[in-house]
Amino acid sequence: MTVIASSLAENRLSETVSVFTYGGETLATSYGTNAVAFFGDRGIVLVDPFVSPVLAAELDAQLRTRTAVPVTHVVLTHHHTDHALGAGYFAKRGAEVIAHAEAAARMEAEHPNLIAERRRIPEVAHLFESAAPYVPSHVVSDGLLLDGGGLRLDVFHPGHAHTPGDLCVYAPALGVLVAGDLVSIGYHPNLEDADVAGWRAALERLRSLPFWMLVPGHGWAGGREGVDDQLLYLDEAERIVRSALRTGTEEDACAALTRAFPDHLLALVVRDSVKRLSTLKRVPPT
Ligand SMILES: [Zn+2]
Repeated sequence: MTVIASSLAENRLSETVSVFTYGGETLATSYGTNAVAFFGDRGIVLVDPFVSPVLAAELDAQLRTRTAVPVTHVVLTHHHTDHALGAGYFAKRGAEVIAHAEAAARMEAEHPNLIAERRRIPEVAHLFESAAPYVPSHVVSDGLLLDGGGLRLDVFHPGHAHTPGDLCVYAPALGVLVAGDLVSIGYHPNLEDADVAGWRAALERLRSLPFWMLVPGHGWAGGREGVDDQLLYLDEAERIVRSALRTGTEEDACAALTRAFPDHLLALVVRDSVKRLSTLKRVPPT
């Protein structure tokens, strides 16, 4: 069931798991990221609380219409602001924020400048006025088992895939896997900080888990096929970029990759992805 309140949409996967998104592909809508709430008896575990405290507050208000139980934990799937910058809002209200050590380090290094830059963009400045740089309070290297108010969640580091500090969240009792940006559905993935070989290995590892509901970092939640589709995207993107760069420019490669996925949102990340793919040495098996 999808419930729409303002532009924040809720997709209830079950009584205990909801996916929230502002949709779209702009900074003002958090680039369409998904925030995932696991409703335990004694607390809510929230994964990826959007790009700004304003959007996080709107999400919090929507959670309050459902339950008086507080957000006790926030898990960040990686350091990119569209997933992580809203964490400070929930930390101020007592939530423990969990991130990989590499993600925490990059938040500390990168977020202050990004906040300052965005305050200078008139269309989105209001979203960042109350933003303050925040570094997670609970840093992990491999992962942890989280008791989310009666709900067991397996938080694990799948290796350096989308970013060096990726975390995924698996709820075995619910068959739900939150993949962060290891999987994007209907959106171009951002390869800026990626280890592409590590990403493929991580997706294979995800495939070995017996989940049946997959929540991507961007795009609609679906089934296990999302992992296969992401592997195909990486293979296809690598092939297209190699082929375009054999005779053409980076510009040609961007155009070819955009043309190959005409319905995908977030074309603004394609240039960084082309740069990353153009540095790869290994040709994937065809
Ligand atoms: Zn990302």
